[in-house]
Amino acid sequence: MPLPVFIVPPGGVKVVALPKLPGHLFAPYESAWAWAAKLAAANALSACEVSGLLGIAAPQSDPLLPEQTPRVAQALGRGLGFPAGRIRDAFLDGPVQCLKPLMHERLRLCPECARHGHHFIIHQLRPFACCPLHGLPLRDHCRRCGAPQAYALGNSMVFGPVSCATCRAPQLPLSVGGQPVAGVMAARSVELIARWLAFLRRRVTLPAWSDMDGVLGARQFEGSVRRQRMQAIIPPGPAPYRLVSRWPASLQHACLERCYWRQANVLWRQCDDHGRQWYRGVVRGLRIDAAPGAQALAFAYWRMTWQGCSNPYLLRRAHGLPLYGIAEWEASQCAHDDDDIDVTMSAFEDALAASWADWLDCIDLLGAKELERETWRLRAPPSTFVLFPKSKKRRGTKFFAQLLRSTA
Ligand SMILES: [Zn+2]
Ligand SMILES: [Zn+2]
Repeated sequence: MPLPVFIVPPGGVKVVALPKLPGHLFAPYESAWAWAAKLAAANALSACEVSGLLGIAAPQSDPLLPEQTPRVAQALGRGLGFPAGRIRDAFLDGPVQCLKPLMHERLRLCPECARHGHHFIIHQLRPFACCPLHGLPLRDHCRRCGAPQAYALGNSMVFGPVSCATCRAPQLPLSVGGQPVAGVMAARSVELIARWLAFLRRRVTLPAWSDMDGVLGARQFEGSVRRQRMQAIIPPGPAPYRLVSRWPASLQHACLERCYWRQANVLWRQCDDHGRQWYRGVVRGLRIDAAPGAQALAFAYWRMTWQGCSNPYLLRRAHGLPLYGIAEWEASQCAHDDDDIDVTMSAFEDALAASWADWLDCIDLLGAKELERETWRLRAPPSTFVLFPKSKKRRGTKFFAQLLRSTA
C-alpha cells in the first residue's frame, strides 16, 4: 500500500485563519478606523498586522482614505458577512466619496457614541463640531492623556489601533479580556446618519464647509453659519430633461403653474391646523414666532422658492428669497425637439418634489424654527435640474441667456 506523501513547501506550512468579528461590532456608517480597531482587539492583532490584513499601505498619506477600497478589505468584509456597501462607506468610497475633502485629519470621537462602542464616518466630517446624533462636542484627543490622535491606524507592532499612541488607553470600550464591546445600533440613528450624509452630499461644494471647521453646531444655526449664509440648493431631479420648444411658451407656463398649484394644495392639506394658522399669520405680517412644526416652515420656504415673493412681510423676514421660480426652471431646461408635454410636466413635478424634500431636510436636520433673516440663500444654478448633454449645452445656455434678456 503506497504511503501518503506530505510535501512541505520551502516557506513552511502557514495556517491562515479568518479573523472573527461579530456582526453588531461593525455597524452601518462606522469608520474604517473603528472597523480596524475592533478587528484588531477581537483577534489580538497589532496596528501593523491589522493594516496588512486590510491592505492599507502605511506610507500613504491618508491610509484610511485610499482612492478605492482595498480589495483585501472587501474580501475580508465579505468573509465576515458584512455588506459590501458598509465596507465602502467606511473607506469613504462609493456614494459618499465626494465627502472625502471634508474628512478631518484627527480622530474625533463623540463621548456617547464611543461609550456605546461606535465611531461613525460622520464624526470625521469637518462641518460638524458636535455629534449629529447626540449634540455632544466631538473630542479629538485622548480621554486620559489629552494627546491628539491622527485618523490612522498607527505603526505599532505590539498595540492595536484602539489604544492611544501615547498612554495606551483604549478609545473604545473593551471587556476585561480585551474584547471590543458595542451596543446594537438603533434603526433611527442609522436613518439619521443616512439623511445627514445625503444632506452634505448635496452641498459638498458649499464654501462654508471648507472655509471653517464645525460650521454645523449642536443642531442649530449659531454664529458662523448665520454669517456664512447657509445655502439651500435644490437637488437635481432624477427625471430626464426636456423642453417643449414648439409649444407656445405662454401655454406651457400656464400648465406648469397649474401643476405647481396642484402640488401646493396637496402640501397645504398636509399641514396641520396649527401650522396653517401660523402660516396665515406670517403672510399677513402678524406673527414672527417659531413655527409649530417643520412642515409649515418648509411650506413657507418652498412656496417662496417657486412663486417668487412680493409679500412685504415675508420679504422683510427672509432677506434674499427667492432666487428661483417656475420661469427660471423653464429657462434652465435645454431645448428639445420633442413635443411631449407629459415629459416636461413629469420633470417639473419631480423638481417640485425634490425641492420640497430638500426643504424639509434642511429645516428638520438643522433645527430651524422660524423664518430666518439672511440665513438661507436659495440659489439654483441653471444646470441644477439637468445634466446638459455636450452637444446641446451651448444651445441651452444661449436659450437661458436670451430669456434673461427678454425678461430684463
Ligand atoms: Zn454621538
Ligand atoms: Zn492617551
